[in-house]
Amino acid sequence: MDWDVIIVGGGPSGLVCSEKLASLGLDVLVLDERTEPNKDKPCGGMLTERAIREFYLDESIIEREIWGVRVMYREEESFTIEYNERVGGNVHRTKLGKYLAQRAVSAGAEVRSNERAKKLKVRQSHVELVTSETLQTKMVVGADGVNSLIKNFLNPVEGRESLGFCVQYLMSMEPELIDERFGNINEFYYGSDVSPFGYAWIFPKRDCLAVGVGSLLSKVRGNLKIYLEKFVKKHPIASRRLEGAEIVRFDAALVPLGGMYSKIYSNRVVLLGDAAGTVSPITGEGMYYSMVSGKIAADIIGKAFKKDDFSEKYLAVYQKKLKKQMGSELKWGVWLQNYFLRGQSSNVGAEIMSDKGMQKLVGDLLMGRKSYFQILVQAIPYWLKSKIRTKIKD
Ligand SMILES: Cc1cc2nc3c(=O)[nH]c(=O)nc-3n(C[C@H](O)[C@H](O)[C@H](O)COP(=O)(O)OP(=O)(O)OC[C@H]3O[C@@H](n4cnc5c(N)ncnc54)[C@H](O)[C@@H]3O)c2cc1C
Repeated sequence: MDWDVIIVGGGPSGLVCSEKLASLGLDVLVLDERTEPNKDKPCGGMLTERAIREFYLDESIIEREIWGVRVMYREEESFTIEYNERVGGNVHRTKLGKYLAQRAVSAGAEVRSNERAKKLKVRQSHVELVTSETLQTKMVVGADGVNSLIKNFLNPVEGRESLGFCVQYLMSMEPELIDERFGNINEFYYGSDVSPFGYAWIFPKRDCLAVGVGSLLSKVRGNLKIYLEKFVKKHPIASRRLEGAEIVRFDAALVPLGGMYSKIYSNRVVLLGDAAGTVSPITGEGMYYSMVSGKIAADIIGKAFKKDDFSEKYLAVYQKKLKKQMGSELKWGVWLQNYFLRGQSSNVGAEIMSDKGMQKLVGDLLMGRKSYFQILVQAIPYWLKSKIRTKIKD
């Protein structure tokens, strides 16, 4: 046997999983088709504080600390929530990939770049994975992102209807100008003029900004890049704040927004992160959930090696544990996605946002500071108030 475990994909999910498995003494190989693991993965780069703390991420990877959020919800209407502690950090994905890969290698894993998995065959006693050569392994982990080869092998159709589509510019700006205009605040813009069913964002880093627009793919009519261009050049607030910034790169990418897929394991195979659908359906936060999935999968795979049991029946525990950890969060996220984004242009949507208590809840939601269920329960009084106010106005 060449390897105990081969992990396809060197993103946060795969690298966290590989570090943990290697530290258990297993022979682990991570493959990534990019020239460096996860290099230039399209992403806003916002890590919530829980991700930084729970995964002991080094401060050196943080390009800008985040202490608050600004939300623009109707032309020229906005609010800012500033916290008295750090609530996250914005990172470059290439730097994060390098850092997580170093940790995995220090724990004993091998990380190979420029290596694409093309095919897999699950046999009784092992898996054959075809890359530039044919490798034999006891288990395969599919951490290969939204267009996952391994997920398509298990479950080719599910999730297509709930894919999100994002377009993003990386824009350079003088650090002093970013300090002055954005400081340590991430900005979120809502409204049907900004995105057909989603939002736009400006996440400042040290000397550049991630500026993007996301929507459910099924709601996009025409070219989403036109929304992005309009946002950058014509939005009454954003265009002024972005004045003088230079476009360095353009990316377009998919993201799964329908919650965890119904089956993310099979004999000798498990799926992690985007390949498993573990992205917040309401905020699009994926890095934290993907690392959690990597950690839980590593626990179960470690136990499977102790028992020498790689059957579908045994690996089902992985999905059970993941559901316990984040299942209800992702389900409520889908509910919020429907309510919040659909209601964003309605009077009730705007009315509810004008309430100070509700604004704080939205800040907590965007920065992952409370569970979605907690937010929903605490939002009920504001929702009722706004309904009554709208009725009176009507
Ligand atoms: C525009 C955009 C903005 C986003 N902004 C944020 C944000 O601000 N904060 C946040 O938390 N989340 C954000 N997300 C979501 C986040 O990027 C993902 O959820 C996260 O990267 C998932 O991690 P992963 O390890 O599962 O997969 P990925 O990071 O996608 O990594 C998969 C890796 O697998 C490799 N790969 C794929 N196929 C193969 C193959 N056949 N062989 C070998 N290698 C392969 C790829 O090269 C890639 O490096 C955003 C997503 C998008 C699209």
